[in-house]
Amino acid sequence: MPLIPRFKPNYNWKEWFAAFSFWRNDLNLYENEFAQKFGCLHGLMFSYGRSALYALFKVWNIVDKEIITPAYTCVVVPHAIVLSGNQPKFVDCEKGSFNMDYDQLESSITARTGAIVVTHLFGYAMDVKRIDDMVKSAEKKFSTKIYVIQDLAHSYGTSFQGEMVSQYGDASIFGCNISKIINSIFGGMVITNESSTHLLLKKFREQNTQKAPWTKELKRLIYMMATSFAFQPIFYGLVNYLERRNFLDRFTKYYNDDTIEFPVDWNELPKKIEARVGRIQLMKYDKIIENRRKCAKKTIEYFKDNSDIKFLEYDHECTYSHIVALVENRDEWIVAYRKKRKQLGTIIDYSVPEMKSYTHYKKNLDDFPVAKKYSKHIINFPIVF
Ligand SMILES: *Cc1c(COP(=O)(O)O)cnc(C)c1O
Repeated sequence: MPLIPRFKPNYNWKEWFAAFSFWRNDLNLYENEFAQKFGCLHGLMFSYGRSALYALFKVWNIVDKEIITPAYTCVVVPHAIVLSGNQPKFVDCEKGSFNMDYDQLESSITARTGAIVVTHLFGYAMDVKRIDDMVKSAEKKFSTKIYVIQDLAHSYGTSFQGEMVSQYGDASIFGCNISKIINSIFGGMVITNESSTHLLLKKFREQNTQKAPWTKELKRLIYMMATSFAFQPIFYGLVNYLERRNFLDRFTKYYNDDTIEFPVDWNELPKKIEARVGRIQLMKYDKIIENRRKCAKKTIEYFKDNSDIKFLEYDHECTYSHIVALVENRDEWIVAYRKKRKQLGTIIDYSVPEMKSYTHYKKNLDDFPVAKKYSKHIINFPIVF
């Protein structure tokens, strides 16, 4: 029996046709279409989302500052903070939500705060209006500029009370690898309504990124083919077996517990094939989100009388990058579902301040208890019901 993977890139002949259209350079088109789709005037592509974040800190001249970020987030975000010469200031999750606690966020702002990374985890929007007010009054109090970056890697197009969250703050970043809602094979994006930021970023990219060797285009194509095979349900059982035995770490593991580093190609220019595939994916976005919401609704409904598993209430504005729940014994659930031929994921199975390279940002052993708890109890369901 085939195994249903926890996620799977949504490619058909259109992506393949685009991938093989080697003569096309769609980078500018992709950047513009992406920005427009998610509510901003300007877009600029980087090789990773983390590279885009790093570039923002650099062009805004944020150095040796505290950057507020969730404790419970993808570790590449604090990596970008540290590698840009700043310090992360972690904020725990709000109980009953996966996003940052508002009171803790507010009390974390000091005269040394350079920026806040507002992560809308798993597609759930934070209250961007409340954060906007908070930041404005802190800016007055400390007479400094505090930059706000929306991390939309899980929440492309997420809205809060009907308005896209990308309308708030100074810029929004996106990760676009194959595990995201839509992808450009690899890649990251930054969008903004500020022309000055866009121009500075463009200049930064011209001066600080290298052109990738032409073989990289081919490598991306091969990667796209390999992953498409790997995610076919008939092969996926084997892939999952190899993954569980750590044979695929070279391809799947994106962090080390004890090192803060970027991948070697973090400052390469984006690849043409990525922009071409990204453009096709962009056109599928609405349909993909519609399907995800349907699937999330059904999954939540299915478990509504089961007290062993906790979901957040269905949220019609959430983009459901992952359909997550909390369970007491995660391993039991995973094994039981594998027998039913469905793979459960353990998305973000760490709290960043618990990682070896970040423990010194913690004051007490027991800081960030909610993030720690979530990291041990979270599971996510496949996006097909
Ligand atoms: C994927 C992701 C990013 C960006 O990741 P890159 O691999 O650098 O593109 C940023 N934040 C979150 C929460 C993510 O999941």
